[in-house]
Amino acid sequence: MVKLTFYGGVNEIGGNKILLEETSTKMFLDFGLSFGCHKDFYDKYLQARSFALIDEYIAFGLLPEIKGLYREDHLKHIDSNHSLLGSGGDKSVDAVLVSHAHMDHVGLIPYLRPEIGLLGSETTLAIINYLQDTMDGDAQEFLDWYESFKHVPKKRGEGLKRATRADLEDEKKTREYTKLTQGQGYELDSWTIETYAVDHSLPGANAYIIKTSSGNIAYTGDLRLHGYHSERTEEYIRALETTDIKVLLCEGTRVNEPPGMKEEELKAKLISTIDGAKGTVLVNYPARDTSRIRTLAEAASACDRKLLINPKQAYYLSKLSDLSDVTLPSDNKMGILLPLKSWGLWGDSHYSKDQQLKDYSNAFNSKDVRNFALQLSDLVLPQDVARAQSEYVVTCSFYEISLLHDIQPGPNSVYISSKSSPYDMEGVLEAKRVNHWLEHFNLGKPVELHCSGHLSGEEIKDLVERTQPEKVVPIHTNNAKAFKEMFDNTVLMNPLDSLTI
Ligand SMILES: [Zn+2]
Repeated sequence: MVKLTFYGGVNEIGGNKILLEETSTKMFLDFGLSFGCHKDFYDKYLQARSFALIDEYIAFGLLPEIKGLYREDHLKHIDSNHSLLGSGGDKSVDAVLVSHAHMDHVGLIPYLRPEIGLLGSETTLAIINYLQDTMDGDAQEFLDWYESFKHVPKKRGEGLKRATRADLEDEKKTREYTKLTQGQGYELDSWTIETYAVDHSLPGANAYIIKTSSGNIAYTGDLRLHGYHSERTEEYIRALETTDIKVLLCEGTRVNEPPGMKEEELKAKLISTIDGAKGTVLVNYPARDTSRIRTLAEAASACDRKLLINPKQAYYLSKLSDLSDVTLPSDNKMGILLPLKSWGLWGDSHYSKDQQLKDYSNAFNSKDVRNFALQLSDLVLPQDVARAQSEYVVTCSFYEISLLHDIQPGPNSVYISSKSSPYDMEGVLEAKRVNHWLEHFNLGKPVELHCSGHLSGEEIKDLVERTQPEKVVPIHTNNAKAFKEMFDNTVLMNPLDSLTI
């Protein structure tokens, strides 16, 4: 008998945390953060305090209440009699099967005890390493784990001090990561996990078929059929067609949406927009989507411009550069824009290199990114863009919008929004602020040019009809009922519901 319990990922987009268990084998399908629920309780300046995070998240339904799942340094610190302690030091779940490294699929992994290993693609591992290098505090401990709330003897003098990561380097634990490859089944006790690379708005995305003694369970993760690698998703669907599927866990982010444009079509539209602009072209897009980076770099190049990415993205691409399943644009189609920080000294010949470096000493959220960026010789500065506006396409997310001040876009400049439209109040307010900046700099309204990372309603219908699963469970959607209208064998799940097969 196999049981699926939905701790997240139903009636919401993201937050996938689905526990699959059979006798003593237990595995989570992803362990992501529910953005919606998180925003119900927290915001940028109201974050969980690290010592109380696990307790609060459990209380609010962001984390499942399961013994033997969480890092005990946190639980002990709150209360040495914490109800989730006392598993005898054993993990209660064997592994997390990771579909891809978007935060709504992996974001809460750092709070799992370090003995719980991860299974996923090689590219997902590279992205997780990048997240670990660029995030802060315990939230970054995807793989390398340091005990929190620990005191160590002072090196000089009497007494104790709070341990830093450097003090604990010898005691560091490393979470095991098993790279799964297509065509090689992975055995976890009596289960066999079959891996399929699929196309999504993040490289390294996998979908799976898990073969259990009660039947086969298919987990789509997030996927689409209109990116550069739609043949990968097509291959997964063909595998589903030829396998008896008991339960299909099917993402439905866009189940109510018509088919959007293909990434190739998007490129053509971008080219015509960029071509029509004479001044600066700025573009806001998902920073880690390598397909979009490629689309933009190629569109820019077709218009004799260079795509400028930010140093954090350059660092990200450096982590992915050796992976065979990721196609990055050639270096000559891209440049790196170093944003001005602190006193804005960089490139100013009146100041010593030392003073310029000081400007950046704490300005990046990660030392790795700062050191990486400042080692690069070929950096473009905002003032370079200001002088040669028709030579670049500039990456400009909401948090980079002050670049407009430094560049002072000339006549016939354009701001392209190449990401999904806002889905909550915060997003709406963000867009409003962007619009004010654009109005102030006479840029007009943003030009909306985007294609999503998910299947359309018609494509979902086709996938389910071809697959003929015994049951289909909608996940990662706010419109589960649309599945019910399309398929008689839909099983609607609510958070904490279980399904036994
Ligand atoms: Zn995703």
